[in-house]
Amino acid sequence: AAKSEGRGRARTFEPAMMMVLEQRELLRRSLRVALQHGEFFIEYQPLMDCSGSVAGFEALLRWHHPMMGIIPPSAFIPMAEADGLMPEIGQWVLEEACRQAMNWPPHCMVAVNLSPAEFLTGGFTDRVSQTLDTIGFPAERLELEITEGVLLERTINNLDTLNTLNVLGIQISLDDFGTEYSSLSYLKNFPFDSIKIDKYFIKDLTNDAKSQTIVRFIVALAHGLGMKVTAEGVEDQAQAEWLIAAGCDRLQGYFLGRPLPASDVLEFLRRNDTANWQSQEK
Ligand code: C2E
Ligand code: MG
Ligand code: MG
Ligand code: MG
Repeated sequence: AAKSEGRGRARTFEPAMMMVLEQRELLRRSLRVALQHGEFFIEYQPLMDCSGSVAGFEALLRWHHPMMGIIPPSAFIPMAEADGLMPEIGQWVLEEACRQAMNWPPHCMVAVNLSPAEFLTGGFTDRVSQTLDTIGFPAERLELEITEGVLLERTINNLDTLNTLNVLGIQISLDDFGTEYSSLSYLKNFPFDSIKIDKYFIKDLTNDAKSQTIVRFIVALAHGLGMKVTAEGVEDQAQAEWLIAAGCDRLQGYFLGRPLPASDVLEFLRRNDTANWQSQEK
């Protein structure tokens, strides 16, 4: 009975499933040409120093599809990754972000997310350093965000890659900490400058004792290892105050600032980074 029921159900859902598959196929085909058609753009989300100044901005990729409108990265990056398009798209993000950050005051850094495919492609560090040279962007103002998933394979080469980036002066942060594999051996073996606590632990922070314990633990762990801590997904003032009191170094989230189009970055700095901005104008 279960079998025939299952079959019946499958038949019922077939047209809908076909639609989904066709849409995916359409999306996949348009993804292949999106770069040439100039459909990608970057939004910048502020990273606030707990002292109150703007430390920099994280580059977040967006796709403006000609028919479907703006598509979030979660809807196309996995597909781009699977189709082998991420090294090329990632290189575009790096160039575009460094070019745009050239217009920002010199204390503002830019953080760029890396996908596993980019990081694992041979010659990655050479391409990064060449890009910085060509644009004239200082390595010290670039931060690369990687997730633990990036480090799963080829451990020895990964260490080489991270060490090379480190020697170049690039900052490296471990993104989404606490949600993926969270093997502490990564923290022992790899040269991270900072850890970003995933928003999963921030969203119920002010009324969940378990999240509080975990956040305190990550802060102590990071500081004990000489790394900075950023909390992501900070949505209200109570969370921000709690995180500052707990010793977080940087905050990021809708409460501090939503992702902005590149053209709004300087205006955001003028409004929210008064001290630095004035010293910059003088
Ligand atoms: P992520 O690097 O962890 O970036 C943070 C995500 O949280 C962003 O989503 C951001 O818009 C969102 N966010 C920021 N503040 C808040 C908040 O207060 N509340 C909530 N609920 N969300 C907040 P977004 O832009 O959709 O990006 C999702 C993920 O896509 C990123 O997560 C990153 O893993 C990936 N991604 C984005 N741009 C790139 C890129 O250029 N290259 C690669 N490889 N991955 C990217
Ligand atoms: Mg990130
Ligand atoms: Mg993150
Ligand atoms: Mg996250």
